[in-house]
Amino acid sequence: MTTRFELDALYIEEGERSSALAARVIAGLPAGVAVRYVADGRVAARPAAGAADPFGAGKRRMIILRRRSPFVMACPAGSSEFACCGYLIAALASNCPMDCGYCFLQEYLADNPGFQIYANYADLFGELDRIGRNAPARAIRVGTGELADSLAFDRLTGISRDLVDYFARREGLLLEFKTKTDEIENLLAIDPRGRTLVSWTLSPARVFTTTEHRTAPPVARIAAACRVLEAGYKVAFHLDPIIAYEGAARDYLALLDDLFDAIDPGRIAFISMGGLRMTPGLRGAARRRFPRDPMLVGEEVMAPDGRMRAFTPLRVGLYEKLRERIKLADANLAAYLCMESPSVHRRVFGAAPPAPHALGARLAGS
Ligand code: SF4
Repeated sequence: MTTRFELDALYIEEGERSSALAARVIAGLPAGVAVRYVADGRVAARPAAGAADPFGAGKRRMIILRRRSPFVMACPAGSSEFACCGYLIAALASNCPMDCGYCFLQEYLADNPGFQIYANYADLFGELDRIGRNAPARAIRVGTGELADSLAFDRLTGISRDLVDYFARREGLLLEFKTKTDEIENLLAIDPRGRTLVSWTLSPARVFTTTEHRTAPPVARIAAACRVLEAGYKVAFHLDPIIAYEGAARDYLALLDDLFDAIDPGRIAFISMGGLRMTPGLRGAARRRFPRDPMLVGEEVMAPDGRMRAFTPLRVGLYEKLRERIKLADANLAAYLCMESPSVHRRVFGAAPPAPHALGARLAGS
């Protein structure tokens, strides 16, 4: 494993003191990390008073607590404005020990940046059973990597084992892990029976070096994908965010070449693409935390959805080049755009996007 995260402290909510998750994490905790018990983990997740970088400090504070609201949510990208894929989010954790300069969590979790993991995560299975019963004919994709990285610290939590095991026994449900780590050891020990997909966000080495702090190098992510593929998992990749810096087209095309050299494109479930988009609030927070990051200083324009994006012709030009390269590798390899309008989709693919549920079913491989 190339990803090594550090913790300052572990906080455990009193009510979860005897939970299986707390026991596993304590057993694997590196020496020297303080363990504290608190009445309400949500209080421990608030920004540390007086910290120079409260968001960064929150990432080093793991909190095991009970989730009080449902685990399953609709994907925040899902709206009538966007050509999306009908995807559900399982919120099993909040925040992430890695630190990407563009990460939307810097704004989204500014008020509760502690790295929270929910001890009652098995309640998710009851929610999914109900959803499956209410929509028996639909293929449902469930992702755990929206408000956190799906596998960061999995060596401590072991949550992936329970998830893969649950989905292996459910027809019509597909689990999607999304990660920038190479923490796959737990996955290699279980047979997913084709019901779990692991997806990696990939960026050129240049973006990794300047902006994706504490993540696994792209080459290690691709190597990890090769290993889980051989262990029976589906694999997919996200080129997201695509950053329109000078030389970006060359670097992203080279990245696709590296990927297709390592993995037969016919064995890749899909590739998603999404340009860098930031609300003004996120852009301000990111530039304050990473003032010297060359990837955060590009010229952008305000899009109708209130997010700053690279000028549309520049973005579309990049998408088209990458789409061509993907098509050349395998004309049947599914590619789609994340958080782009139907008009951008039409310009890139020459056709309107399929309905969300149809796209979701295709991406689920059903
Ligand atoms: S790996 Fe994902 S969740 Fe973690 S900091 Fe980077 S973008 Fe955010």
